[in-house]
Amino acid sequence: MAYVISDACLSCGSCAGECPVGAISEGENQYVIDADTCLSCGACADICPVGAISEG
Ligand code: SF4
Ligand code: SF4
Repeated sequence: MAYVISDACLSCGSCAGECPVGAISEGENQYVIDADTCLSCGACADICPVGAISEG
């Protein structure tokens, strides 16, 4: 199961730089994870300052 970003996201951009496969991009209102690309490594969840990322 891919990781997902909740609406708690502040669009700080920190997670995008941590993803080893470039699955995170800036969406219209917050950052989003491409579920087909995500490897569920958890690196993005570890770095998010507001805990907005969890396993979906
Ligand atoms: S869990 Fe890993 S592969 Fe998936 S979006 Fe986060 S950093 Fe990228
Ligand atoms: S690290 Fe967290 S707050 Fe920052 S863009 Fe990613 S999901 Fe949003």
